[in-house]
Amino acid sequence: MNTTANKGKRLLAVFAHPDDESFICGGTLAKYAREGVEITLVSATRGDMGRRMGNPPYLNRETMAAAREIELNEACGHLGVKRLIFLDIRDKTVEFVEEESLITRIAALIEELQPDVVLTFHEVLGGHPDHCAIGKATTAAFQRTGQRGSLYFISFGDAMARPERFGYTLREIARIDVHAHLEAKLAAFRAHRCQTEIDEWVWLPDQEALTRFGRYEYFMKWDRAVATGVREDLF
Ligand SMILES: [Zn+2]
Repeated sequence: MNTTANKGKRLLAVFAHPDDESFICGGTLAKYAREGVEITLVSATRGDMGRRMGNPPYLNRETMAAAREIELNEACGHLGVKRLIFLDIRDKTVEFVEEESLITRIAALIEELQPDVVLTFHEVLGGHPDHCAIGKATTAAFQRTGQRGSLYFISFGDAMARPERFGYTLREIARIDVHAHLEAKLAAFRAHRCQTEIDEWVWLPDQEALTRFGRYEYFMKWDRAVATGVREDLF
C-alpha cells in the first residue's frame, strides 16, 4: 500500500480516559501518524478515579490526575499524536454532564478541525458508562456538523473479528493491520505506567510482550449503509 496516500489527512479521536487510545487502538493511531495523518486526541477526563494507583501504590486521589496527564502526553509521543485536548470532566461522571453542552463542545472541535475520520466509542457497546456517554455525544456532534468524513466506533481486542453476536456483519467492520506498529503500541502501554505496572506481561522483554498483541484492530462503521465489505483502511 502507498503509505503516503493519507498524508495531510486529519483524524479526531474522542475518548473518555487516558489509556483508551493506547489500550484499544494504539496500533491504528501509530500507523496513521507514521503515514502523515494529523491526529488530535480528546480525553474527556484525566482518569482521576482510576482504581490502579501504581505498584506498589504511589498515587492518591489528589495526585492521580496530574500523573495520568503526564503519562498520556508520553503515550501520545510514542503514538505520534500531535495534539491532546482534555475536556476537564471528572472521571466516572461523563454520563452526568449536561449532554447538550458536551455535544456543543465536540461539535465545535469538529468544525474547527474538519477531520476526515472521527473515532469514538459505540454508545452501547462501549462498556464503561464514561465510554458510552462520550460516544453518544460525539456521534450526535458528528451528525450535527453535517457528517463530513467518516465516523467509526472503536472495539475491544478481536471481538469484532466475529461481529455477528454484536449485531454487526463483517461488511460493517474495518480491519486495520497494525503489525508494523506494535512496538509503538507497547511503548504507549508502558507510558501508562500506573495502569500497567501490575500487568506483568507488559514488562516482559519486548519480543515476548509483543506476542500478546493481535495483528488487527477493528472498527465498526457508523454509516452502515455504505458498508462494502471488510476494509483495510479508515480513510
Ligand atoms: Zn476508558
